[in-house]
Amino acid sequence: MIKRRESRQIRVGDLFIGGNAKISVQSMTNTRTTDVKAMIEQIERLKTAGCELVRVAVVDEESARALRQIKDSIAIPLVADIHFDYKLALLSMDNGADKIRINPGNIGSEKGLKSILDKAKEMSVPIRIGVNSGSLHKKYKEAKGGLSKALVDSALEYTNLFEKHGFGDYIISVKAASPMETVEAYRQLSKKSDAPLHIGQTEAGTLLMGAVKSSVVLGILLAEGIGDTLRVSLTDDPVREVEVGYKILSALDIRRDFIEVISCPTCGRCGVDLITLTQEVEDRLSTVRGPLKVAVMGCVVNGPGEARMVDVGIAAGLGEGLLFVGGRPVRKVCETDLVDVLVEYVMKMRKGQQIV
Ligand code: SF4
Repeated sequence: MIKRRESRQIRVGDLFIGGNAKISVQSMTNTRTTDVKAMIEQIERLKTAGCELVRVAVVDEESARALRQIKDSIAIPLVADIHFDYKLALLSMDNGADKIRINPGNIGSEKGLKSILDKAKEMSVPIRIGVNSGSLHKKYKEAKGGLSKALVDSALEYTNLFEKHGFGDYIISVKAASPMETVEAYRQLSKKSDAPLHIGQTEAGTLLMGAVKSSVVLGILLAEGIGDTLRVSLTDDPVREVEVGYKILSALDIRRDFIEVISCPTCGRCGVDLITLTQEVEDRLSTVRGPLKVAVMGCVVNGPGEARMVDVGIAAGLGEGLLFVGGRPVRKVCETDLVDVLVEYVMKMRKGQQIV
């Protein structure tokens, strides 16, 4: 049982982060914010995949003004990602942003920062202090103590500034390009602040490498009880980020919102095209809410044993498969119908229908 670090709670729209709130999964869009139609479509896809909070890049005034229409068309909280110009943060709040993410290292003067804090306080908009190794202030880059400490010191300088101005409604992230430096930064930060933490591995890479690096970082941190919301960063469709995020939480037994597909690695005993079959099962069930477990096994050696232990399972034979539901064999199905039949039984189970 993971003992979660105690943190304060913030509220972003209707989502709570920190305290005893569920560890939420978020993502960032990669369409132009000014292309409102494409943005809304992408946010819809993200929501269907389970995304609970979405961040968009606000690069100029036009993007900040576009937030209004986006906000009015979506059903999850909206975060405005701001760099360099504090006025864009102000305009984003005026146009409905539920949360602001700033990188204090590049937001400029304390005066500009104070005007963001005043408005955020007035509108009850929380702020993420997002420190990244790539944009760390020069004075920290040159400081002794290593990168992780520098990230934490930079974040704490800003939390102190926020507190000095009476603003406590913040969440922090400290991300390095190296996974273990990221882990170390969060470990240090978790001891120095009780603010909720947004965790993730920045610049993680494409789907495979990014999922591996994110799993390492998030796996270590979450197992140590660190982290209140997460983003998996991938050079890919952001929907994948959300899928990987849930799979990490599911592997750690923290959340089981979606169906988990277990499958064997395949070997020379396999009697069907299990790789294609399993991929198809995963695709068809990717947005189906769990917490059911499904097993797709390639033969009768380990197949029946595993298939019995899950909610719906298949143990394949030569060109066919034996379907198990709730631990009992139900029927034989030919290879071409296996996916359809398995999905059909999963849906029946979700609806609570009597099957065996
Ligand atoms: Fe091989 Fe059967 Fe094990 Fe799959 S379940 S890896 S096919 S022995």
